[in-house]
Amino acid sequence: MLVEPLGSTEPRLKIAAVGIEVVSKPAAKTACVCGSTSTNRHSSHPEVRLTSRRPVWLEEPQPEEVSPQQKWTEKWAASNVVNRSLIVDPFIAPPGFDLLQRLWSTLNHFRTGQSQCAANLVRWNQASDPSCSCGAPSQTMSHTVNDCPDTKFPGGLSALHLADEKAIAWLGMQSIC
Ligand SMILES: [Zn+2]
Repeated sequence: MLVEPLGSTEPRLKIAAVGIEVVSKPAAKTACVCGSTSTNRHSSHPEVRLTSRRPVWLEEPQPEEVSPQQKWTEKWAASNVVNRSLIVDPFIAPPGFDLLQRLWSTLNHFRTGQSQCAANLVRWNQASDPSCSCGAPSQTMSHTVNDCPDTKFPGGLSALHLADEKAIAWLGMQSIC
């Protein structure tokens, strides 16, 4: 006991009263991630002093989230990107990733079907004749690599996608990219 019956006990009583006041102050209730607001459980969580703070233990429990990789994989699989089937796993660098920039760029022009072939030049109002020199009515990137008797790559785009030595040599000869 802090209070003794000797002399003036008033100052000691005041000290004791302050001590009692501090001890008897109700503990703040803090919500936990589990939703509990009990002061008896999860007492290790510090009290929130600033209203602007959003500590993790105040957040509501979240349902099991899908990883960003899984989300992107699903989005890629559901997309209608040209020649999407060439890329099975969007998290693996496609073949030819280490090629020189010009060859890498040319390869991707064929993968995406976007480059200065006659059909695209007409579409972009840069030319009026979409035909190929082989006589085909439309010189597309697909026609150039898959079908054109003058330029096609053996095995077509799926073989070119692998970027082996023959594909690299073929890419180096292309002039429309
Ligand atoms: Zn042709």
